[in-house]
Amino acid sequence: MQDLMQDIPLTLDRIIDHAARWHGGREIVSRDAEGRVSRTTYAEAHGRAKQVSNALMAEGIARGDCVATMGWNGYRHFEAWYGTIGIGAVLHTLNPRLFPEQIVYIVNHAEDRLILADRACKPLIDQLLPQCPTVEKVIYLDEAFDAWIAPHSAECAWGGFGERTAAGLCYTSGTTGNPKGVLYGHRSNYLHCMMTLQADALALSARDTVLLVVPMYHANAWGVVYSAPAVGAKLVLPGQRMDGASIHELLETEGVTYSAAVPTVWQMLLTHLKETNGRLSTLQRVTIGGSAAPESLIRTFHDDYGVDVVQGWGMTETSPLATVSVPDAEVAKLSFEEQVPYKLKQGRLLCGLDLKLADDAGDPLPHDGRTFGRLMIKGPTIAAGYFKAEGGQVLDEEGFFDTGDVSTIDPDGYMQITDRAKDVIKSGGEWISSIEVENIAIGHPAAELCAVIGVAHPKWDERPILLVKLKPGQTATRDDFLEFLDGKIARWWTPDDVVFVDDIPLGATGKIDKKLIRQRMQGYALPFPVEPAR
Ligand code: ADP
Repeated sequence: MQDLMQDIPLTLDRIIDHAARWHGGREIVSRDAEGRVSRTTYAEAHGRAKQVSNALMAEGIARGDCVATMGWNGYRHFEAWYGTIGIGAVLHTLNPRLFPEQIVYIVNHAEDRLILADRACKPLIDQLLPQCPTVEKVIYLDEAFDAWIAPHSAECAWGGFGERTAAGLCYTSGTTGNPKGVLYGHRSNYLHCMMTLQADALALSARDTVLLVVPMYHANAWGVVYSAPAVGAKLVLPGQRMDGASIHELLETEGVTYSAAVPTVWQMLLTHLKETNGRLSTLQRVTIGGSAAPESLIRTFHDDYGVDVVQGWGMTETSPLATVSVPDAEVAKLSFEEQVPYKLKQGRLLCGLDLKLADDAGDPLPHDGRTFGRLMIKGPTIAAGYFKAEGGQVLDEEGFFDTGDVSTIDPDGYMQITDRAKDVIKSGGEWISSIEVENIAIGHPAAELCAVIGVAHPKWDERPILLVKLKPGQTATRDDFLEFLDGKIARWWTPDDVVFVDDIPLGATGKIDKKLIRQRMQGYALPFPVEPAR
């Protein structure tokens, strides 16, 4: 029997329509590359996004065409975003931190017709353009953008297409092989927005002021470009400056209550706060994702600043948020100290998704909190394949997507990432979690960044070593770090060596680049003979 409810497609233009109509006066605050702060509102941004749509159509952009953006978080980027998707064109966010040859590949693969870019990206764009024949025009997201939309009306009919129409295109950074495109739909992003707004996920509300540190080009900005306007939260867009002092200033001057970013950004903020004896007077909650949240970070936020850290896990292919480390009823009864082990896990699954652990043959593994396996995920916000069928078939016969992450799931449903499959260290046939060792090591007061990689060992196949970049002016020895780890991890997980380095390379999304570290460490030999303590 057919239901009798109204058949309204779940298209994303309805989100900004709603924000403009019901939260029209809520502010969008942006800071540009020079540090200037500008203020607009959802109502104004809505009108200007419609002007963008008209300007795009005047350029000949039609439904299904790819329009790229390249820039940091700012109000013009936000207007370009909604202006593009409102007419059924596809918003392709380019990450300016990728290698130029990767960007050329991506632009050509997507067949981008226009690029809307921050002025700071001009040297990069000038370098790329001769190799990108599909690009007809570049518009810079400053006064040039204002002039481009100025002649156009703020009236434009949005929508009118099915909810399965493509809305956004985001390429994974391609640490192995070429980057692959994830093509989001209006429906999938709309559902992701609704799923992540619940109290046990991002828990955003009309009372929040949200600092969106996660770049709009990184994994769909964790959906916050949709979830903040959906509830009428004030949105603060920090531009290019992510250093501790700049982030702190915005947190305080704008009265930010909630923010989302990768751990490295928060490490920089906490270092700055320590150095300056700074306070966080309004911040209540932060979501950390993209890489595992170190224990020291969770504790410092809680103990020194009264800020609750919630860890989220996901990937570009999962829209991205899929699990969140909020306490269930039993865990909520525990003290903070007892809750820490749960906060270190990546958390429990959002409604609408399904997770399973599988071995290399694809057979299911138990959810006992100990058994490591490949993490597989299924749901309407999970990629069914990559753009233009790159990478071929990516789902198993039950329709689960292989995340490339290795994890455990405990009997209460808390999932914990132990490694990316390609970074796994296998010693004597058993897995060592490099992430766990790193996250304890970074708690050493002298450490700025830590990375654990596996190196070949004649008896155990592989053994872990710890690379440490010390904070400026700090000193520490190999034994200091080994003693610090002692008792906090299994003895046989203890790294066989500690190597002090000047630089731990970060990739285009601010994560530790282990592939590059392994390349750099190719000539390294373990100080033999070493017998791991069992
Ligand atoms: P990239 O592959 O470009 O880094 P993604 O942002 O899609 O892009 O990365 C997703 C990966 O990041 C996940 O597969 C997982 O390995 C890692 N990740 C994301 N969130 C967490 C988290 N909270 N803890 C540990 N790892 C995480």
